[in-house]
Amino acid sequence: MPVIEVSGLHKEYGAVTAVEDVSFIVEEGEIFGILGPNGAGKTTTVECISGLRVGDRGDVRVLGLDPAADGEELHQVVGVQLQEAGLPDRLKVREALELFAAFYRETTDVDALLRRLGLAEKAGTPYKKLSGGQKQRLAIAIALVGNPRVVILDELTTGLDPHARREVWGLVEQIRAERVTVLLVTHFMEEAERLCDRVALIDRGRVVALDTPAGITNRAGGGQRLRFRPSAPVPDEDLRALTSVTSVSRHGALIEIEGGPDVIQEVTSLLAHRQIIAGELRIEQSTLDDAFVFLTTDAQASKS
Ligand code: ATP
Repeated sequence: MPVIEVSGLHKEYGAVTAVEDVSFIVEEGEIFGILGPNGAGKTTTVECISGLRVGDRGDVRVLGLDPAADGEELHQVVGVQLQEAGLPDRLKVREALELFAAFYRETTDVDALLRRLGLAEKAGTPYKKLSGGQKQRLAIAIALVGNPRVVILDELTTGLDPHARREVWGLVEQIRAERVTVLLVTHFMEEAERLCDRVALIDRGRVVALDTPAGITNRAGGGQRLRFRPSAPVPDEDLRALTSVTSVSRHGALIEIEGGPDVIQEVTSLLAHRQIIAGELRIEQSTLDDAFVFLTTDAQASKS
């Protein structure tokens, strides 16, 4: 049985359609990412999964439970870390965990959890005095205190420096190692590439791609990008005429060319034929970031 099943979910806020016919399945032990631009409907979708909101149409099941009807049962098996935990400033770390632990029938050992999340030394520190990374680790601890089978993490590493972000990623990998299913909402493509087994890319309330990060990257061209400074002029139209080339742009004296898998070979043979040297040559493989830009609306708008 899939752990999460969303089918034909639809949610409107007045005139705004936030979620339109969203469907996906999350299997046990997966880290499943929900990606998309601001306002795409990611938070609304996870709120419907966690039972904080009820969709207007469609069906949501989490471990066979209906979040809209079986809220109490669901709460016992799903841990939620939402954007901005919003804890009172004076609440101490251990107090916060004990407070949340009281809501669960079965809880994990608070001291062990504090140690695991590197918060043991901060047990008596008020929330206000924690760094951004410590606040995020506390938010994850709160999501884990009820020994959940599913954890929902929303904008987990926003505002964290690269070091703290990597620490938090390590924690998410530990959660997966225990076969807990993770639903991760993120803006960071690098985070999705590093952590997620599969992702749903949502744009304007609709799923525009549903695949592994590598699968989505490939679908959006899977191509390569070259940048170089030519030793002699080479007209854009000659480059565009090559079969694999999809775009040519200029950045000062540098030329940037994007295209399919054969683009490097085609461009280098054209240059060799004309005895042009490609100075400062850089070759990059396209990433999930490129796929995001290619597949979502802002990209379409900026192309036109
Ligand atoms: P972000 O990445 O900015 O957090 P998101 O993908 O999580 O965005 P949602 O927060 O689900 O997107 O919002 C989807 C759309 O619904 C947006 O247009 C948003 O303005 C609108 N919306 C969200 N919550 C409400 C609400 N309570 N009332 C009215 N409109 C809302």
